[in-house]
Amino acid sequence: MEKIKLEFPDGTVKEFAKEITTEEIAKSISTSLAKKAVAGRLNGELIDYEFPLVEDGKIEIITKETAEGLRILWHTAALVLGAALQELYPTMNFGEVQETAHGFYLDTDNAQGQVAETDFEKITQKMKAIVKQNVPVKAAVLSQAAALKLVADDPYTTELIKETGKDQVLVHRLGDFVDVSQTPTLSQTSSIKVFQLLSVAGAYWKGASSNPMLQRVYGTAFFKQKELETELQRRQEARERDHRVIGNELDLFFVDPKVGAGLPYWMPKGATIRRTIERYIIDKEVSRGYEHVYTPVLANLDLYKQSGHWDHYREDMFPPMDMGDGEMLELRPMNCPSHIQIYNHHIRSYRDLPLRIAELGMMHRYEKSGALTGLSRVREMTLNDGHTFVAPDQIEEEFKQTLQLMVSVYADFDIKDYRFRLSYRDPKNTHKYFDDDEMWEKSQKMLKSAMDDLGLDYFEAEGEAAFYGPKLDVQTKTALGGEETLSTIQLDFLLPEKFDLHYIGADGEEHRPVMIHRGIVSTMERFTAYLTEIYKGAFPTWLAPQQVTIIPVKNELHEEYCKQLRDRLVAHQIRIEIDSRNEKMGYKVRQAQVNKVPYTLVVGDKEVAENGVSVRRYGEKQMTNATAAGFINEILADIESYSRP
Ligand code: ATP
Ligand code: ZN
Repeated sequence: MEKIKLEFPDGTVKEFAKEITTEEIAKSISTSLAKKAVAGRLNGELIDYEFPLVEDGKIEIITKETAEGLRILWHTAALVLGAALQELYPTMNFGEVQETAHGFYLDTDNAQGQVAETDFEKITQKMKAIVKQNVPVKAAVLSQAAALKLVADDPYTTELIKETGKDQVLVHRLGDFVDVSQTPTLSQTSSIKVFQLLSVAGAYWKGASSNPMLQRVYGTAFFKQKELETELQRRQEARERDHRVIGNELDLFFVDPKVGAGLPYWMPKGATIRRTIERYIIDKEVSRGYEHVYTPVLANLDLYKQSGHWDHYREDMFPPMDMGDGEMLELRPMNCPSHIQIYNHHIRSYRDLPLRIAELGMMHRYEKSGALTGLSRVREMTLNDGHTFVAPDQIEEEFKQTLQLMVSVYADFDIKDYRFRLSYRDPKNTHKYFDDDEMWEKSQKMLKSAMDDLGLDYFEAEGEAAFYGPKLDVQTKTALGGEETLSTIQLDFLLPEKFDLHYIGADGEEHRPVMIHRGIVSTMERFTAYLTEIYKGAFPTWLAPQQVTIIPVKNELHEEYCKQLRDRLVAHQIRIEIDSRNEKMGYKVRQAQVNKVPYTLVVGDKEVAENGVSVRRYGEKQMTNATAAGFINEILADIESYSRP
């Protein structure tokens, strides 16, 4: 009998008969292991539990408790979903089957009528029936021709099979559903005891908007009921924070794919928040020596050829506009070349440096449609951008000042949960980066010592630098559990060369400046999304789109006084609305809470007589009494406390 040699993670090597399965190996080790095991991993590749092993290599047994075990469960649950859908809708076609961070999805397309969340009950029953019968998943390696025959009518699966480019394709079948994703499954569908369908959303085939829109069905599954409950709880909390949900409830913004995916519309309330952030950051930067400019979003394509964007960043750029007279115009993906034009418009001397050019610069990036998310990833965005031109010996000091500005801004917005990441070049792949070893060594050390001097905590990441220089990124958490970059400071030695930038030094000679790219509050879009999530829509008073609601107890008796009060508040630029709708007072007070208005004032006979107000602060149950003047002082102090200059 032919043998194969398998090495276990602890280093022991054992011989087995060729074609032994992971299941048999697990059983030979112990029955308790066999109970927990769900698949194998041979030489780094996951394989089905019952798949015959024919070659020597490193073997690992994958158990239920691991992340891979869960992934295999999710994949199998997705197949059960596919089999149920295929039975219910025989004409349905299927796109991708994929596991996510918290479950799985399956893309579907049915000309006879697309699947909707209202069908979930029916689909769930069908899935339960499949699980109850323990319908087996059959894995087989087929020739490409045979695999194609199996899915004859399904254009998407056909494409997926052809894409493998392999003569032999691993196919998993459950009932009439055919999966060609090569991911292992549990052999027993009876193991899928705890599962739940979650939602349906449109998704373009292959993420390209020129392709048909499929219906993506999301679900999740677990080995234990308790784990499902924990996941549902997590989802609920994430939903309560999700800026897309809050943005809709509070009427802050919308995106309408019919008008353009990733092109947000800011409603008046969202626009108020944005305007407040914009004024704040411009004032803050001007007070720190920045000079704000306006530059066009369109420029001749040659500008982006010179900057290198056209060569290195083209995939993320909108295609150029051919003006018909030989001119090609391009929507800018970044503002750096524009600010370089400002630098170059005059001869610069060492006395001008550091020269801090800033702009709320609008840019366009053709992000993949699948990556677009509410306001946090869009295709048109306005970056709180700035480029500082410094002499080489000013880098460290300028870097420190930029960091201090960042930390102070974070404190104003009460942002606490963030991590600094120092991003270096990959020492094993130095050829991928701007070629100047000394510059890299020196500047990386410089950034590190600046962080140490300021006593800031950070972690270091090799290989995360831009190709033109090292950088510092600020990583924040999103409601959905991911991490994204909010702020960034990047050293750049390359663009000054590409645009041949100079300044006249004290010695009268020409010298090359260094550029520092920096974004403090990121794009208005991502920052507003982020703030919405950390505040759960309850914006601090200085940012709240509506700061005060005034409710007259009886319109005919108290509205006049409310209007006088409003005028006094408006004189202090306080954003206020009177709610004189014909509704019960209790309802209006609750509405103000739902809309997360920081202050609700109730005005009745007593308040009118005493020139006072009854105040309810957001999140508090009690009403307190104050004089009108006292309240104005309170709210002004509240607003001041956040927007320190
Ligand atoms: P990301 O890694 O998020 O794609 P990037 O590395 O391309 O960003 P930069 O070119 O440095 O980012 O852009 C500056 C900042 O603009 C980023 O740190 C991020 O906060 C924000 N940003 C980038 N792309 C988008 C987008 N599509 N929508 C909203 N904000 C964005
Ligand atoms: Zn830049």
